[in-house]
Amino acid sequence: MTQRTPLVAANWKMNGSKALVAEMTTLLTRADLQGIDVLLCPPATLLPLFTQAEKLALGGQNLSQFQAGAYTGELSASLLQQAGASYVLVGHSERRTLFAEDDELLLAKVQQAVSTGLTPVFCVGENLQQRQQEKTTEVLAKQLAAVYASHPELLAKSVIAYEPVWAIGTGEAATPEQAQQAHAAIRQQLARYDATAASKVRILYGGSVNAGNAGALFSEADIDGGLVGGASLKPAEFLEICLRAKD
Ligand code: PEP
Repeated sequence: MTQRTPLVAANWKMNGSKALVAEMTTLLTRADLQGIDVLLCPPATLLPLFTQAEKLALGGQNLSQFQAGAYTGELSASLLQQAGASYVLVGHSERRTLFAEDDELLLAKVQQAVSTGLTPVFCVGENLQQRQQEKTTEVLAKQLAAVYASHPELLAKSVIAYEPVWAIGTGEAATPEQAQQAHAAIRQQLARYDATAASKVRILYGGSVNAGNAGALFSEADIDGGLVGGASLKPAEFLEICLRAKD
């Protein structure tokens, strides 16, 4: 059986502050996080403030598809890296829906991340209507194919996040069974492109994860940790969630 180190990632979205950086750093650096990887994705301007956080990995929430140049307001992979990031979220559902990021653009972003040495956390997930129409597996397959069918070499350098859109920020997480089923489908789909990488790739669950439901979700065979939004803004609860990945 492939051993995968659990990863718990925080997505602060457009939230947070200097004070939260300090509070989160103090709490997490004192905790025993051995055996798990913890990743914090704050707004990019806060990244350089995590000076005491050697045990923690840092990530961006988005990146430009371009390497450098006249792209006012954009942040390149290299700039994120220089600010302390080693990961970057790509294709979060808010980017897909609110900023019209499509498959072609997301492939370019994953390529930019990998070629610069950042690990992309590539987010996929169905919306409520697609789930109700029993199109979940089909939707996930299409989103994954957009990157990994033509570029299977990117898989070994990626983390995948399964984030059903209907579960994000709603308080209604997927059940462990629903999530496991989707994660298994994702791994199976990815195995078509690179079976070895598919067995090793970490697949995180995201969508209303909290201290109460994290343990059951993380104990499923194909769930290798979580991507946490709202609850990652509460240091004590986020730490609890991280510790559930150790159980
Ligand atoms: C997210 O936005 O990645 C997320 C999972 O949010 P929440 O935990 O608040 O549902």
